[in-house]
Amino acid sequence: MHVGLEESVGPMHELGAYFAARAKGGVGLIVTGGISPNIAGWTKPFASTLNNKIEVMKHRGVTDPVHEEGGKIVMQILHAGRYAYHPLAVSASKLKSPISPFAPRALSSRGVRATIKDFAKCARRAQKAGYDGVEIMGSEGYLINQFIVSKTNKRTDEWGGVYKNRIRFPLEIIRAVREKVGPDFIIIYRLSMIDLVKDGSTWEEVVELAKRVEEAGATIINTGIGWHEARVPTIATMVPRGGFAWVTKRLMGEVSIPLITSNRINMPETAEAVLADCAADMISMARPFLADPEWVIKAEMGREAEINTCIACNQACLDHVFENKKATCLVNPFACREKELEIRPAKKAKRIAVVGAGPAGLAFSSTAAERGHQVTLFEKSEELGGQFNLAKQIPGKEEFKETIRYFSRRLELGNVELKLGVEADASMLLDFDEVVISTGIVPRELSFPGYNHKKVSSYIDVIRGKKIGKKVVIIGAGGIGFDVAEFLLKDANTSEKEFLDLWGIDTQLENRGGLKDPISQPPHRELFLCQRRPGKLGRNLGKTTGWIHRAELKREKVEMLSECEYIKVDDQGLHLFVGGEKRVIDADDIVICAGQIPLNEFVNDDYHVIGGAGNASKLDAKLAIEQGTLLGLSI
Ligand code: NAP
Ligand code: SF4
Repeated sequence: MHVGLEESVGPMHELGAYFAARAKGGVGLIVTGGISPNIAGWTKPFASTLNNKIEVMKHRGVTDPVHEEGGKIVMQILHAGRYAYHPLAVSASKLKSPISPFAPRALSSRGVRATIKDFAKCARRAQKAGYDGVEIMGSEGYLINQFIVSKTNKRTDEWGGVYKNRIRFPLEIIRAVREKVGPDFIIIYRLSMIDLVKDGSTWEEVVELAKRVEEAGATIINTGIGWHEARVPTIATMVPRGGFAWVTKRLMGEVSIPLITSNRINMPETAEAVLADCAADMISMARPFLADPEWVIKAEMGREAEINTCIACNQACLDHVFENKKATCLVNPFACREKELEIRPAKKAKRIAVVGAGPAGLAFSSTAAERGHQVTLFEKSEELGGQFNLAKQIPGKEEFKETIRYFSRRLELGNVELKLGVEADASMLLDFDEVVISTGIVPRELSFPGYNHKKVSSYIDVIRGKKIGKKVVIIGAGGIGFDVAEFLLKDANTSEKEFLDLWGIDTQLENRGGLKDPISQPPHRELFLCQRRPGKLGRNLGKTTGWIHRAELKREKVEMLSECEYIKVDDQGLHLFVGGEKRVIDADDIVICAGQIPLNEFVNDDYHVIGGAGNASKLDAKLAIEQGTLLGLSI
């Protein structure tokens, strides 16, 4: 996956260090993020391109370190087509995509031939740069996919019309690449096995393409699930683990080259289950290797408890990339900073007290302990994890429990002394060389009349199991307001079948694009989600996942109210102005999700304060773990 290190001006040392760490960690075969074969194929202006000798030299900065660690690496060639975020975009036809503001130019027949040559030349340059192979990106709705599917290919020449003509483009690319690179170079073809867009390929067409791809000279077929413009979650955290392996499984036996499966495989037991089920020959993962470069070694050695599991949040990886920032990982701030951050033994081992075992305290304690400090961690509740213990209760966020498990194991390995159920006070902190306060936050309480009415609850009480009625108003529409809405809408976690039904995924693969009419149960509750500011609710949710939360609430008919002014709560319910108009919502319960304030009763300039205890306004788990880790590295 693209991580934002590809656009390096000089030698790609940072990208090399990132991949080398994964090769060292036992990864069998690495595939880079997409590199364009020409300028028109850029995903964004000045995206990484391999079309000249200087670029070949730059890529040595990637291949050499990987090979030094005994790894193998192939370079993905990606032509964005109409997904390009620049005015030079081209496609099969002049049809703008819903996710880019730039209408593409339709390639002429000559342009198509030139593009095929560019793919082949790019592959040859990749070979010269030391790569072990290339992956041809034929899925996710990029240029090749745009040729294959009739909805984006309206051509009337030999590259359009019937299916045989539409797949001519990828097949000619594979043939041209094979001719340029010889027989011993890996060619992976990433094939869109289920487009998840209207008028996408049929299953019969997918099988036909796979067979022709093999004949054309591909070594391996990789699975692509869904176009980027698809309105179906394919990798977000609510997608069940291994939730799309069944698609690859349908193709097993149709071709004789190996098939790779992908999407939401994040722990060894899931990967093992997929292989045992003969759903694929190989497993591919992207984000799990951001979260833990040593995933493979740990799995191999039976050290699964030490794996830092990708929780599929997208918050520090894909959201960053889509905001033109370098990717990293919410649970692993070292990702993509391999040359910058390193755990080095402390010059002087210190006795350190940490107060609060939420994400910030856990990240600090484990990092400091690994550097040789003697850490004592005080936590007033009986469990580690802080706010993550609430997050893991939200349907679709169960993965957060893995982060708690991971940090608990690191504390154990670092011999951190745990004082659970102990509310620290200043007198207990006197004998330490350093004190770190990571006591977190408390929910902001509101003060309108009736704020203490029995109908009013904090989100913490609700998530912890307080009984809530059938008609509910949620005050505050930030990340937690949306989470609580989903919590109140679903009594239980969604099963794989329910997920597929809810999002209209056709597991029989009888319909074009693998879509069917969604099937959902009537909502459990009538919900109202309110904010004071004007505009769309959920605007600040993650770039790559916010649309999913908004779609879920829309499907469940949650009434979204902006420009709210809360007047009072009484036995009738909530009285408020909505856009200046008075309204009474006869709710059974009103749940407050109005942000947080720091919880820090310790006042001492000598203490280090991290996480929400320091600043609750801009804080989330990503920042908390990063702050804890950075302090742990520097103390
Ligand atoms: P938040 O995102 O800051 O949202 C707070 C909400 O409360 C806003 O809708 C705000 O909207 C409202 N509010 C603030 N002060 C209020 C007041 N005095 N009276 C009434 N309403 C008030 O905070 P959060 O939802 O508690 O989340 C905390 C942190 O966790 C955030 O950084 C968030 O990004 C993160 N988080 C992220 C996710 C995720 O999925 N990415 C999920 C959960 C939490 P108005 O001011 O317009 O009313
Ligand atoms: Fe996984 Fe979230 Fe890390 Fe991305 S940021 S790799 S989704 S844990």
